Amino acid sequence: MGKCEITREYLHASDVHCHHYVPKNLGGSDQFQNLRILHKVCGVEGIVVSSLEE
Ligand SMILES: [Zn+2]
Repeated sequence: MGKCEITREYLHASDVHCHHYVPKNLGGSDQFQNLRILHKVCGVEGIVVSSLEE
């Protein structure tokens, strides 16, 4: 399936959260370039922003 971009650990299908770089309600797409895969627990907005976005 892939690895979480936060923890770098393998993801299981049941744990995957597709996070949008640009939220869909702001016009973001479902294209691969707009997605990152994370654990559901790692996909909490605050964690993503603080650890990956500069
Ligand atoms: Zn993770």
